[in-house]
Amino acid sequence: MGAAPFRCHCRDCQQLTGSGHSEMTPMIIDTFSISDACKIYDMKGGSSKPTYSGFCPNCGSQLTRRSTTMGDRIYVHASSLDDPRRYAPKKSLYPDAAQPWDAKSIIPD
Ligand SMILES: [Zn+2]
Repeated sequence: MGAAPFRCHCRDCQQLTGSGHSEMTPMIIDTFSISDACKIYDMKGGSSKPTYSGFCPNCGSQLTRRSTTMGDRIYVHASSLDDPRRYAPKKSLYPDAAQPWDAKSIIPD
């Protein structure tokens, strides 16, 4: 996945966000901190390896994703950043999984 911000159209992201895709900013886990409680939901990703979805225990908002395959990274949902205007997705992941009504959001290669 690399270090570039990305839009993910996979089914997990659709179901977690309740929308067509997620908007994710990768960060190095050692440089990341979150100021309030973040609850972790363990799930299996598309590769059937464990992934961890962080969410606010009060309102349920999705905050982060982690995976065992990219253990030094944490992926932050762009809308939960302090300044989401700085977010600029560079590519689409799993564009083939995009729903027909969300196909216009696919970022071309
Ligand atoms: Zn995804």
